[in-house]
Amino acid sequence: MPDVRIKSPNIDDIFNKWKQKAYKQKKKELEKQFGTKGAVFSLDTISAGETVKETMKEASIYFLIEQKVETSKDQKEERGDIKELSKNTFYSLRGAKIEKSKWKGPDIVPMYETIEQVPCSDCKGKGYTETKCKECTNGTKTTDMIVLTGAEAKKEKKPFKYNCNVCYKTGVIRNKCKTCDGYGTTFKWKKLPVPFISKMTNVPKLYSSAPTKYEKQIGEELGELIESVEGIKFTNVKELSDKTIEPNLGYYNKNISKVVKKAANDYQKFEKDKDYKIKSPIYVFPLIQIFCESKKGKKFEIYAVGSEQKFMTYSNF
Ligand SMILES: [Zn+2]
Ligand SMILES: [Zn+2]
Repeated sequence: MPDVRIKSPNIDDIFNKWKQKAYKQKKKELEKQFGTKGAVFSLDTISAGETVKETMKEASIYFLIEQKVETSKDQKEERGDIKELSKNTFYSLRGAKIEKSKWKGPDIVPMYETIEQVPCSDCKGKGYTETKCKECTNGTKTTDMIVLTGAEAKKEKKPFKYNCNVCYKTGVIRNKCKTCDGYGTTFKWKKLPVPFISKMTNVPKLYSSAPTKYEKQIGEELGELIESVEGIKFTNVKELSDKTIEPNLGYYNKNISKVVKKAANDYQKFEKDKDYKIKSPIYVFPLIQIFCESKKGKKFEIYAVGSEQKFMTYSNF
């Protein structure tokens, strides 16, 4: 267990480092926010004293794990008519081997090859149901005609049969099936897992007591620069506690205590789970959060992760 207090970087050093970085990456914006009309722009005119409004001392906990990437075992059957079918984006991935890190879609997708037609049970696949035509008898209409019969021209009613124009002489009316809209079929298809290549991949875990927008970026950069950023190193998760961290940081707060517990819990879960492998010790870094405002009133934050000797900066400037 470490027993040397780690010094967090001082505000002027952080501010200067941010200034240099911003000058390289966002010179125009820097001039706009801090320049004076008519005067030659110089970095020296940007001072921490005038820009920094508030600072918070926080902490970030970092460790690296390896995670097993495997094809999901979930699958789902969906049903619907042609409209609902067409709403889906289908995939064809038969025989494909896919790297999860390069895959941009969801983990489970509707597969083209699984689309099947299902005969509509309400109309037995015909697309319509039949009812007897009310206008006729078996397709034939009958009317009475007055016929003057014989030499005496005797008035007689005689039936006359003709074709029905409602059912087109079939005697039945076809009603479009509402369930299948006349298609006679509905559709079913499956959402199946994308066939990812099963392998272990590195996943940096970062827990910050003041969550920044840069958690992912900080985690990845710490993974690469872990030796060049100074932190408090723990090889045994049981030593990770308020009691050990507070004296090493030289400051503490409720949020730090919370993330320490969360990180320790997660770490122990990863230790027990065979789908994970712990790949690094646990590091605790001072995280300094600086709230700033430019001459022109633009509000932004600067974060520093690391010690007085070695730290990295991030900003939303
Ligand atoms: Zn009819
Ligand atoms: Zn139907």
